[in-house]
Amino acid sequence: MIVPAQISAGASVNYCLENLVQTPQIPALVPANIQVERIQAVGVGKIPQIVYKTAKGRCSTLLSKRQFLTIWQCWLQIRHPQIEKIESWEIKASGLQFTTNRGLFGLTFSEAKAFLSRYNRAAIEPLSVKCNGSDTVVWNPLHQTISQVSETGCSCADSLYRNTICKHQIAVHLCRNQGILGDRAS
Ligand SMILES: [Zn+2]
Repeated sequence: MIVPAQISAGASVNYCLENLVQTPQIPALVPANIQVERIQAVGVGKIPQIVYKTAKGRCSTLLSKRQFLTIWQCWLQIRHPQIEKIESWEIKASGLQFTTNRGLFGLTFSEAKAFLSRYNRAAIEPLSVKCNGSDTVVWNPLHQTISQVSETGCSCADSLYRNTICKHQIAVHLCRNQGILGDRAS
């Protein structure tokens, strides 16, 4: 399949989209496009809760501690690939704090909120990934866009201008983690 597609950085090119790999399904936090506004721990059990905004208004939901850990494990492996494991986490006044096999790591709320919103997008959008040698591309059939993901980031606006981990980087990470990309890391 050859599709003329809009690369998120600008130019329109023809891309060969054969051998695309569907991103592994991850559970969405909320089955809608959300903007996370707050992350907090509630009750004696310190259950993680997010307050978010959708096109329909503001709402909140509790997350299981297991899902919360899985999400930050994903963040940490993208940001700091040398770290294997989060042993515990805590929601502090200043942000999130992780105890890992390589020591303590902090994450500001603004980066954590941006990541949760993108992670949810990666869960609800049918992204596909293809590896072309050193070049990895992510195809988004909903928006008809192709994004190029490299070791250092992505060609989309979230990565280039907002300096956040984007849904494309998350999609590539999920594929690599499951060893379904057929590239060096699998
Ligand atoms: Zn991107």
